[in-house]
Amino acid sequence: MAVPKSKITRSRRGQRRSHDALTAGNPNECANCGELKRTHHVCPACGHYADREVVSVVDDIDLDDDAA
Ligand SMILES: [Zn+2]
Repeated sequence: MAVPKSKITRSRRGQRRSHDALTAGNPNECANCGELKRTHHVCPACGHYADREVVSVVDDIDLDDDAA
């Protein structure tokens, strides 16, 4: 197993981690419903992409109907 030859100081550790920060996404408004959505992705709220519905979104699924 590889073993570090010397201690990484707090300074060097911090310098390495200075590049670890995540950047915020770039949400876009859906042209159909106005909900914020990821660019180049189907809107999760209404299922539209480029002004047409490509996925039908069901509001509520009642699981009890199938139980009987
Ligand atoms: Zn939408």
